[in-house]
Amino acid sequence: MTEMLLKYFREQQKQVETERIYNTQCPYCSMQCKMQLVEQTHVKRKTYKTIGRDNPTSQGRLCIKGMNAHQHPLHKDRIQYPLLKINGEFVKISWREALDYIKEHVTEIQEKNGADALGVYGSASITNEEAYLLGKFARVALKTKYIDYNGRLCMSAAASAASKTFGMDRGFTNSLQEIPFTECIMLAGTNIAECQPTIMPYFEKAKENGAFIIAIDPRETGTTKIADLHLKLKPGSDAALANGILKVIIEENYLDERFLQERVNGFEEVMQYVASLEFSVIEEITGVPLEKMYQAARMFGQRETGMIFTARGVEQQTDGSAAVQNFLNILLSVGKIGKPRCGYGAITGQGNGQGAREHGQKADQLPGYRSIENHEHRMYIADVWNIEEKDLPRKGVSAYEMIEKIHDGEIKGLFLVCSNPTVSNPNANFVKKAFEKLEFLVVADMFESETAKLANLILPASSYLEDEGTMTNVEGRVTLREASFPRRGEIKHDWEILCEIAKVLGKEEYFSFSSAEEIFNELRIASKGGIADYSGITYERLRAEKGILWPCRSLTDKGTERLFETRFAHSDGKAMMVPVSNQAIVPKAKITKKYPLYLTTGRVVSHYLTGVQTRKSASLSARNFESFMEIHPSTAKKYEISNQELVQIESSYGRIVVRSKFSEGIRPDTVFVPFHWADSQNVNNLVSEKLDPACKMPGFKVSAVNISPSVKRSSY
Ligand code: SF4
Repeated sequence: MTEMLLKYFREQQKQVETERIYNTQCPYCSMQCKMQLVEQTHVKRKTYKTIGRDNPTSQGRLCIKGMNAHQHPLHKDRIQYPLLKINGEFVKISWREALDYIKEHVTEIQEKNGADALGVYGSASITNEEAYLLGKFARVALKTKYIDYNGRLCMSAAASAASKTFGMDRGFTNSLQEIPFTECIMLAGTNIAECQPTIMPYFEKAKENGAFIIAIDPRETGTTKIADLHLKLKPGSDAALANGILKVIIEENYLDERFLQERVNGFEEVMQYVASLEFSVIEEITGVPLEKMYQAARMFGQRETGMIFTARGVEQQTDGSAAVQNFLNILLSVGKIGKPRCGYGAITGQGNGQGAREHGQKADQLPGYRSIENHEHRMYIADVWNIEEKDLPRKGVSAYEMIEKIHDGEIKGLFLVCSNPTVSNPNANFVKKAFEKLEFLVVADMFESETAKLANLILPASSYLEDEGTMTNVEGRVTLREASFPRRGEIKHDWEILCEIAKVLGKEEYFSFSSAEEIFNELRIASKGGIADYSGITYERLRAEKGILWPCRSLTDKGTERLFETRFAHSDGKAMMVPVSNQAIVPKAKITKKYPLYLTTGRVVSHYLTGVQTRKSASLSARNFESFMEIHPSTAKKYEISNQELVQIESSYGRIVVRSKFSEGIRPDTVFVPFHWADSQNVNNLVSEKLDPACKMPGFKVSAVNISPSVKRSSY
């Protein structure tokens, strides 16, 4: 059989008539692995495969998602023409008709209800140029204050914590190249083995070199397998666990006193607060035995070098920002930042989770990480955009709060780019109802996602194979995604779509771009002097230097590999520590008699976000074609649930049905469900709408639920 197959493949190979190679980057996670699409023309057909391409970050590696990434843009369901909903059915129309439709409805809604009756909802999967342009489009073309994006649900807690602690937010303070040489690593709430698989070799190398790895997660994962110590905490107790570790560090004096004195504010307050806490209370809150906290603190305190990484497990909580701040308190207390092999990394989820949060898609932000409420910042950007400062709208509200405003009728129309909010937001049943109330919903996407199905108009958007532009990866390295695969039908790039809409709205003079590079050159000026300064970066340099880590303030600036070597970004040059409570101000879900189990959520290796792209990939979909609930066998027994059985999970917000999957590796008081599926399998139907007051991050990672077999046994 093997012989026959080999013979078949050799024959196929011989029949290749032409071969074309297209360079690009993976559309999925923040590693932004460089890749090539290989298109081979055979006698009767074309075949495609994706291979890795060498670069400083992923070093030529691809994970299973990357290797199959070409399957969705080439899928038959790809939207290729503008589609207008008429009598409940989508009908193909021309771009001219689509643009006229938009003009008519924008004008009507805004004349009747004011500029803010329209909102814009963006994405962290689009390029820097498109994220920048979307912010400008909202404020200059539509003149609305309501713009936010799906990165709010992903990186807002880490961004807020880093800004408060260090004075700036670049996800990684060091380049990845330093990880293999650090001596102690704390991986808090991150499952990199499934979410960013090509980053794993950096950590495996560190382990080979003798690093001690501490993993913090309520369940065993591919990532916890490389750990020397696994702190299997109760979901939602990260801030308290960090207090426990900090308390040991202070008690056993692993402090870097000189560093604290010279480079940090607020340590005294933190020390006093932590001294007032009881270990027994922390043990009770976290479920982590005290000796394990001691072990973690001793290893991190005693080793010469160390790094801390956080991700959504810590961050997607109603105190996510504070919890990250508390891990940064640990890092600062032992002085492990601003020097070789020491630092912090927020492991970004989405492909452009970093760049998309820097240049104006956020409700309160202007390009270059400037503040929309700062007069100087407003003056600078108004000047770049050639508008009056008074015409620049003020701060809007966060993604979920925008949806509440849609539900209340204040926002009547929405432009949505590359996102699927009716599945990805918490309290998803409510979100869907809100979207159904919109008078006018325009969606730019590649597929009829669950949200696009609710649209009045869908615009065909380009993919990572076709759309050139810059992305900023997990390290803060700006890279150029060169993409030139021919577009099918009447597909347009997001930036072209925005420019054309602006034109019909009479704003052409502000949006007369003819390439992504032209937009980037304006972004460079707009970011100049800001925290995220890209002014020294050009497409030419990106091609020659294989990416540049920002800030990069001039054409001769090599970029910044390691941050905070001599000063932090606060005006006095010092980092800021603040005491963090064991308990969130906005209370998290508590288990009760009615809802006796914790529910936590996350990803699986074969899918990405709400699965709109990966569920279109035959290879990826075959690996996980449906959702599941991971449950400890002892818990399952208590609820009379068998392995691989359909189970109903219920919270006070809703109900879903998924298949059970036994695992000895999860806490018995917790179940886990991935978030890549929609409708009756959408775990966000169960999640509360409560937000972290500091950054408006929803509390995805802890809900209280009840479970039962989906089919009552008595009915057999
Ligand atoms: Fe690389 Fe992430 Fe794509 Fe995997 S999903 S190939 S790790 S960018």
